[in-house]
Amino acid sequence: MTGTTDMKDAVIIGGGLAGLSAAWRLRNWDTVILEASPRTGGRIRSEKRGDFFLNWGGHVFSGPGSSTDELLRESGTRFVEVPGNLAALHMNGKFIDKGLAQTYPLQVPLKFRDRIGMFTSGAKVSKDVLRYAAVVRRRPGESGETRQQRIYDFENDRTFADYLGDISPEAEALFTPTVTRSAGDPHQISAGAGIGYFSLVWNIGQGLNRSIAGGPSTLTGNLAAAQADRIITEADVQELTQHDGYVTVRYLRDGVEHAVKARTAVMATPAPVTHRIGVDLRPSLRDALSKVQYGAYVSAAFLTDEKTPQAWDDCYGIATPKRSFNIVLNQGNVVHGLSDERRPGGSVMVFSPASLADRLLPLSDEEITEMYHRDLNEVLPGFSDIVTETHIQRWPLGAPYCFPGRAKIQGELMAPEERVFLAGDYLGNLYTETAITSAFTAAQRAASILATEHQYDNTAAVGLTDGVAHGEDGWVQPTIDTAALASTAGTSTPTVAS
Ligand SMILES: Cc1cc2nc3c(=O)[nH]c(=O)nc-3n(C[C@H](O)[C@H](O)[C@H](O)COP(=O)(O)OP(=O)(O)OC[C@H]3O[C@@H](n4cnc5c(N)ncnc54)[C@H](O)[C@@H]3O)c2cc1C
Repeated sequence: MTGTTDMKDAVIIGGGLAGLSAAWRLRNWDTVILEASPRTGGRIRSEKRGDFFLNWGGHVFSGPGSSTDELLRESGTRFVEVPGNLAALHMNGKFIDKGLAQTYPLQVPLKFRDRIGMFTSGAKVSKDVLRYAAVVRRRPGESGETRQQRIYDFENDRTFADYLGDISPEAEALFTPTVTRSAGDPHQISAGAGIGYFSLVWNIGQGLNRSIAGGPSTLTGNLAAAQADRIITEADVQELTQHDGYVTVRYLRDGVEHAVKARTAVMATPAPVTHRIGVDLRPSLRDALSKVQYGAYVSAAFLTDEKTPQAWDDCYGIATPKRSFNIVLNQGNVVHGLSDERRPGGSVMVFSPASLADRLLPLSDEEITEMYHRDLNEVLPGFSDIVTETHIQRWPLGAPYCFPGRAKIQGELMAPEERVFLAGDYLGNLYTETAITSAFTAAQRAASILATEHQYDNTAAVGLTDGVAHGEDGWVQPTIDTAALASTAGTSTPTVAS
């Protein structure tokens, strides 16, 4: 093992959106970010191609009043409201991009009996979407944590499939692509999560409706660039242990073991990784981490070179029941929708979550590509003729989903350790927004400890010669001399950047 670095103020484990956001807020402290893969960004992944970008991960982001909004503005990242219809549908050979999503059962070619069945189930979900909206609504003076717990509590004792009961196969086919975007199948996610997903899609303007100019990796790229000298990629963290006044993090890089000591840590890795490496987190927290459920995604990005407008130009999202993917996301629309003239070319993303992904994961990229092209040609006629690039991405830990009983572990997941703070999308139900909010909270808690200890340090430097305890690593833990403290009141202390 190589030597241990000097004591850092904070070590951030994981360089995905949560880790980079926490590091961003702690950027005025002495930090190091350890990322296992060769690139930062985690499940945010896009690449520029001229005017367009290919995208494989998170694609729409939260709007005004959100932590995402704060981060975009602080980091100088440009964003746009997603142009075009976010909730179009291609089902039973018909492309529907007009009218409210709730009216689609009227427009899809169906047998009479199926149409009635679809309306019956749709009416039931519509009624409960209103109940969900009341649950989600912010109440005066309440904390984000209280609100999040209430959202998890909503209809959390049965699955969405149990809630729907026996429904017609056509209704099931229409509903499944919507709720499985959560990464869980109807028999896996809670009734509340399923209803919540309909709320998100039907009230899309209030949910995730922003796109990042140049592609989502522009955001993570901006955050990473601002702290490039602190990021260590290909640093595969093996273990975090807690000591009196600091933590030690061991990681492997090029087969060599390294260690970092830091006064605080932000663990911004997915729950199973946090569970594995956080060996001495309190047992009840480790137990809660082990219960978080993830579903897989397989996604693909396509670059196209069409010279003329396409039938799907006015759509951003097209739900595609009964296909190998369950949604088509017209990434090129972010460019086309904002320019006066339709530029040549485009970019499309598709993804397959939950059991669709489970079926694709064992296949080769070529087999998945062939299947995707076959289905895309039916949804977007002539698509294969205009494709110039295709890339497949596998996400075994695609997204955490809310299962029956999920509400019971939320309190445990949110209770901090003394110096170790968790961040990541599995701490709430809003994906990138949860990743960023949890990161901001973790950074705030770490900074609060650092600021307090920094002040004690200054106190020791100014007035304390006796009564100073030295920890095993020389970390100073002085007893407080209030007179000396007062005399250092004007000492500069790094602040949480905001
Ligand atoms: C196909 C797809 C579509 C999506 N669409 C949306 C969307 O439209 N809107 C939305 O809000 N969300 C969406 N999401 C979810 C969103 O991408 C995630 O919620 C978010 O990116 C999670 O960020 P994170 O930092 O919590 O986790 P991650 O991005 O997973 O970051 C964790 C990081 O930890 C690193 N790591 C893991 N193990 C170790 C280790 N041992 N040592 C060091 N580092 C380690 C990983 O490499 C990774 O970089 C989508 C996800 C996918 C896959």
